[in-house]
Amino acid sequence: MKRPTLTFLGTGASCGVPSYYCGCAACEEARVDPRAARDCSGLLICGLQHTLIDAAPELRTQLIRERVSTIDQVLFTHEHFDHVGGIPQLEFFVRLSSKKPLPIYASKETLAAIEQQFGFMSEVLKPHLLEPFAPVRLDGILYTPLPAAHSKGAFGFLIEPQGEESPAAPTSTSPPVRVAYFPDTGPLPPQTLKRLSALDILIIDATFNGKNWMPDSHHTIDEAIACALALGAECTYLTHLTMHYDKPITLEELKEKLKPYQGAIRVAYDGLGVPLS
Ligand SMILES: [Zn+2]
Ligand SMILES: [Zn+2]
Ligand SMILES: [Zn+2]
Repeated sequence: MKRPTLTFLGTGASCGVPSYYCGCAACEEARVDPRAARDCSGLLICGLQHTLIDAAPELRTQLIRERVSTIDQVLFTHEHFDHVGGIPQLEFFVRLSSKKPLPIYASKETLAAIEQQFGFMSEVLKPHLLEPFAPVRLDGILYTPLPAAHSKGAFGFLIEPQGEESPAAPTSTSPPVRVAYFPDTGPLPPQTLKRLSALDILIIDATFNGKNWMPDSHHTIDEAIACALALGAECTYLTHLTMHYDKPITLEELKEKLKPYQGAIRVAYDGLGVPLS
């Protein structure tokens, strides 16, 4: 029986690392060390099927890198370009390969924005409305959309493989894993926080370093660490990292900063795979 895995397709913010226009220490590090380079954020969840969370502008190269040739459904956190810019790259997969409309799942605000921005994709996408706190089961995994503090209608997802009911989930010898994915959020809303107890894995916005340019809709690395400690997840991954606003931090420096947490708080990187069992 196949155990589901989660793969970080991208772990950067919209500017990416390196940013083509930037010569800071973090960008220079990423130019010489590909492990420090970051695409825009997205996740791939592989069970029996391939499920995407978001479609970054670099989706094509991300899928080639991960040797993925089919996609069964896409869930969207929100409609900002760094999360939906890869939607047009799904067109010819649908028209020439799967030959059936691709199911997409998002809030009403995000679905409306996708329709408005990518109207030419309407015949290849099959929209499904997600309501806050109302889970959907896809490939034996329960996805619960939880409001994020970001744009209107923005979600994070609680991701729970469903034990024996799931064809893709682990057998009864390993308990189901609870994962929360919030790539874009400021301080989490109280109703969302209530749902995030006993997490095995928290994946959280750590956009800024130093000063927070958008304190209502993103975290700094320090705020992400505080959120991780408050929620007490077994393991937290920092994601959606600019690594250079408003102060550059290299990957080496960030790893050093996280050392006191002894592996409980880690920095995500593009291509990192995590078993969900
Ligand atoms: Zn983003
Ligand atoms: Zn830079
Ligand atoms: Zn955003």
